[in-house]
Amino acid sequence: MSRPAAAPAADIVVAGGVVVTMDPSRRLIRDGAVAVAGNRIVAVGKRAEIESAHPGARVMGGPDKLVFPGLIDGHNHPIHFLSKGMIDDMRFPERWRNRVWPYEAGLSPEEARLAATGTFLEMIRRGTTCFADPGTFQPDAIAEAAAEIGIRGVVSRMTWDVHDPTAPAQYNDDTASALGRGEATIAKWHGAAGGRIRASFSLVRSAHVTEALVRRVKARADALGVMIHAHLATTRGEMEAALRDWGITPVERYRRFGVLGPNAHLVHMGFVSDEDIATLKAYDASVCHCPSASMFGGFGCVSHGKFPEMVAADVRVVLGTDACAVSRFLDMVRIMYLAACAHKDAKTDPTVIGAHKAMEMATIDAARALLWDRDIGSIEAGKCADIVVADTSGMEWQPNPFANPVANLIYSSDGGCVETVLIDGRPVLENGRFVTIDAKEVSQRAGATSNAILARMGVGLRTAWPCA
Ligand SMILES: [Zn+2]
Repeated sequence: MSRPAAAPAADIVVAGGVVVTMDPSRRLIRDGAVAVAGNRIVAVGKRAEIESAHPGARVMGGPDKLVFPGLIDGHNHPIHFLSKGMIDDMRFPERWRNRVWPYEAGLSPEEARLAATGTFLEMIRRGTTCFADPGTFQPDAIAEAAAEIGIRGVVSRMTWDVHDPTAPAQYNDDTASALGRGEATIAKWHGAAGGRIRASFSLVRSAHVTEALVRRVKARADALGVMIHAHLATTRGEMEAALRDWGITPVERYRRFGVLGPNAHLVHMGFVSDEDIATLKAYDASVCHCPSASMFGGFGCVSHGKFPEMVAADVRVVLGTDACAVSRFLDMVRIMYLAACAHKDAKTDPTVIGAHKAMEMATIDAARALLWDRDIGSIEAGKCADIVVADTSGMEWQPNPFANPVANLIYSSDGGCVETVLIDGRPVLENGRFVTIDAKEVSQRAGATSNAILARMGVGLRTAWPCA
């Protein structure tokens, strides 16, 4: 049992048939428990020892539960909850120009906050305790929604300083203003809600940011100690345009701009060269893979990506859902399944990635990518208590739920097994019921608001088949 000598009495003890710690030795503790005092984990060990050391604590979980660290969604646009279904089976550029950009540009702060609330409820219900938003016009609405529900996350203000006449007017910012807005969001939200909310810079699309902006963002991010969240090398078209226009890959372009480093969080990254992989390792940059978005959106990150090669080269690869519009689900257990398995097929090699690497990607590696691994990403004494309790009594877990529980979670189950979620020591979901918010009221408002947005945009959600 690991417990500091002066550990305070726990308020809550979370017990499980197995506790998956994700600590440096990746210990799995049978008949384990986690003691939580305030927002921190104060002890991890055998249930009998933890309970006798903390006799006054409320006990959650039980012998048929799997306990694991809160899952971290390394890339999600929370405002997109209300755009679900809007870009099904559409080609891109049309889907951005005709649907995504007008949707984003037209959202009121109230609609953005409602959308983010829906996203966070869906996330928590499936075991996600932390998100990272790659940039929006509405960082205040997202941060306010996160603060209310109790989820942990990183918000940011979109930056964009290359004029694009096909985009709504509010996208087309200038360099100084874009930098200023990004920095204002960091000043307002980094460290808010008792430290549960942080903020980062955003380089939203590599084709829409100038060298001057990239260099200035990097300088300010380093000075402020914050992350830079950037979509990069998403599609074959982006790679081809970079080679045509600049004669180098998107990753090499960012390297020359000086932006690569441990605080660079580069998303999608389906089109990289072998030299780029060596560069990413040398600069200790993070890569965020969003397999469901790529598969739904046809990006090519699974069929053409080099994620097994990046993992083999010890590049830090983490996972994200991207957005409700282009993922359609926010279940990080399903995302882990795709990351664990899709590349086995693409490489015709069943040994690549797998469940245990996928679990690292969604927990401890993601915490490092978000510059937050001192506090989250594993169940260890001293860290924040972001803890998931999943039920293993369902038939999909049988016949041996705890023989290899990480593999069972990712290969056989999904996030529907999640019952209880603690974030920062606080139960936010308890036995399937939200504690901090009326989820039914949110879903009713989301339906009405989504319909109003669709009507405003002149977009109909239709079935492919006649529906009387
Ligand atoms: Zn994205």
